[in-house]
Amino acid sequence: MKENALREALVMFGESLYARGYAHGSSGNLSVRFSDGLLITPTNSCLGRLDPARIAKVSPDGSHLSGDAPSKEAFLHLAMYQARPAAQGIVHLHCTHCVALSCLAHGSPEDVLPPVTAYYVMRIRRLPLIPYYRPGDRALAEAVREKATQHHAVLLANHGPVVAGRSLEDAVYNAEEMEESAKLFFLLQGQRARFLDSAQIADLDKHFPS
Ligand SMILES: [Zn+2]
Repeated sequence: MKENALREALVMFGESLYARGYAHGSSGNLSVRFSDGLLITPTNSCLGRLDPARIAKVSPDGSHLSGDAPSKEAFLHLAMYQARPAAQGIVHLHCTHCVALSCLAHGSPEDVLPPVTAYYVMRIRRLPLIPYYRPGDRALAEAVREKATQHHAVLLANHGPVVAGRSLEDAVYNAEEMEESAKLFFLLQGQRARFLDSAQIADLDKHFPS
């Protein structure tokens, strides 16, 4: 896609996520990989009201090249892109059910959302939890980079998800699937829920290899 089309796609998906309550206030940020850098939503911008001309362009090392100042969370995107060369789009949200999930005490941080549906398994598969870091702490980038070599989706404790995709659209759909799956998980609390078993997951892996 050409740069202008990518800018328009960032605006369109931002507006859509905001309109449906996946983002609020100035929370959340979206990016696409572009030639030798990335286009990312500006700092303090509302995803519902992005201006394509003001979207920030940054180099692979995070230097600001043009547009408004990039999101203060751009370093999360850079870390994920560095760990995953095939990733073309990244979505980071503070969406309610994922944040709620990120605040629970989990027995194992390796996979914190059970396989509620085949669609969740096909899009996310496993969701590791990354420990809490204060906003802006660069140590978080290292933690994300380390987990992202094995996972295209991670959950930041008491914060929210960072999700990559083969395109911006794919990353958005992955993030939406994760948020809806977290919502289902909470709807099922206190009920006799049955999640997919290991044979069913192996069958999905066979028929829908990632
Ligand atoms: Zn955030």
